Amino acid sequence: MKASLTLSGTPVVPGVSHAKTAWIRSVPEPEETSEIIPEDARSSEIERFNAAADTVAQRLKDRAANTVGTASDILAVAAGFATDRGWRREVVKRIEGGAPAVQAVAQATQVFVDIFRQAGGLMAERQTDLLDMRNRVIAELRGEPEPGVPIPDGPVILLADDLAPADTAALDPELIRGIITRLGGPTSHTSIICRQLGIPCIVAARELSDVPEGVDLIMDGDSGEFSISPDPDEADVLAKTDAERRRLAREWHGPAQTQDGHPIEILANIQDEAGAIRAEASEAAGIGLFRTELSFLNIPSEPSVEEQVRIYSSVFGHFPGAKIVVRTLDAGSDKPVAFASVPDEENPALGVRGLRTSGIDMGLLTRQIDALVEAAKRHDGPSWIMAPMVSTVAEARWFASLIREHDLKAGIMIEVPAAAIMIDQFLEEIDFVSIGTNDLTQYVMAADRGNANLATYTDNWQPAVLALIQRVAEAGVRHGKPVGVCGEAAADPNLAAVLVGMGVTSLSMASGAIPYVGSRLANVTLEQCQEAAAAVVKASDPNEARQVALAILNAD
Ligand code: PEP
Ligand code: MG
Repeated sequence: MKASLTLSGTPVVPGVSHAKTAWIRSVPEPEETSEIIPEDARSSEIERFNAAADTVAQRLKDRAANTVGTASDILAVAAGFATDRGWRREVVKRIEGGAPAVQAVAQATQVFVDIFRQAGGLMAERQTDLLDMRNRVIAELRGEPEPGVPIPDGPVILLADDLAPADTAALDPELIRGIITRLGGPTSHTSIICRQLGIPCIVAARELSDVPEGVDLIMDGDSGEFSISPDPDEADVLAKTDAERRRLAREWHGPAQTQDGHPIEILANIQDEAGAIRAEASEAAGIGLFRTELSFLNIPSEPSVEEQVRIYSSVFGHFPGAKIVVRTLDAGSDKPVAFASVPDEENPALGVRGLRTSGIDMGLLTRQIDALVEAAKRHDGPSWIMAPMVSTVAEARWFASLIREHDLKAGIMIEVPAAAIMIDQFLEEIDFVSIGTNDLTQYVMAADRGNANLATYTDNWQPAVLALIQRVAEAGVRHGKPVGVCGEAAADPNLAAVLVGMGVTSLSMASGAIPYVGSRLANVTLEQCQEAAAAVVKASDPNEARQVALAILNAD
């Protein structure tokens, strides 16, 4: 993409958008002040605070009422913070002591932020929502426009440092045509929500701060480039190419195969029945990753076997006759499950997570397997069970023995480099593998997948990661065993073609990505995929890998 001023970041959701820019406003931190509110003005300062908090709560409630699903829940929780009696009491106490309302709000909120942070896990993640609500109340007190996502008059491309969960919850794809953030990584919250909504997205765009409000901008979510005041003819060409891509995706129907008929299984990643319903409406041939732990994030104690059977069967029921790959509990690190995570680990990503939790509470795993076996009995298609975070051959052998006892197919996720390096020995023990590129990338690159400052390391096109995927895929071909990919890499249409070229047999992704990946594969030959696969592992960085693959895949 060439135009007047072209910048770039890490592309995460493909698609071209052309619209005016709109910045998500942030609120400057309230400064320390020695100002004391005179005693006779304190009750009106308290009233001013209550009115501001009421206005913010009402706005969030209204937005929750106009939204559905998770988005509505997130907004309702944010509204709940603004009406929380404990928080309001803390603010009022400080105003009664003479603090101006803005400072009182900042100080009182900090008390709760500290409590949440110390509690860790899910509670700690709520800090962002709490601070978001605080910023809204402070802006209201200062008479400034509401921070967070603006409500635009027409289509815009949103620019932000990063998005808070409450920001992403209510994005309307009709108005928000694209998102570019200065921070964030390919597996960050922003990227995952944008992928679900199909909003083109670029993250880690370092020079984003130089882009003004309200200028004409075109962005390309495939290459990660964006241009200010683009040349109208070039913008036109890009928009037409994108419209064609969307048309092909709309018109695509499975079963998936390359242009020359090489079949590939396209499956859906889900976490609950709502996800299974979305997947059912897509062209997914089955479920490639059922993240069971995500059904349990908000509950304090382990559900009974009967309750687990109900949860699993509710998902299986939407895919009669189809293959379903279930992952046993992947608790710990970025997925804290109250009844299965080990608290206070120094380094949870390298701690007791995934299959390792069974070393602490074996019953948790056996009860989950009992429930899955029962749900599988009621399902008339193949049920495959896999374990997350497997690092040793002995773990794989042991897990396979537990699953095969029930005549089910046993597999493991390839997320730890050790498993990819020793893949031949692992494949002798199990029936299939599924590569979790999100964690594999994190561990190969020694870069936290959620750290907004490390997006260039956690790019799925890192040649070192691609070389390990190639090693696993080739071993799968040698052993005649299926190798799937269920990390975010599978949802990138061009990377999906590369993975097919390496010998991967199935790709599992968010339902929204399926038509784009399916139509891309229908457009390239197996030979092109294989050539691209051979080329990317010789690249020296992710951008070069992307460019060489695109040149091969786009050649006529
Ligand atoms: C992965 O690590 O790529 C994966 C699919 O698992 P999760 O994202 O749930 O850790
Ligand atoms: Mg993982």
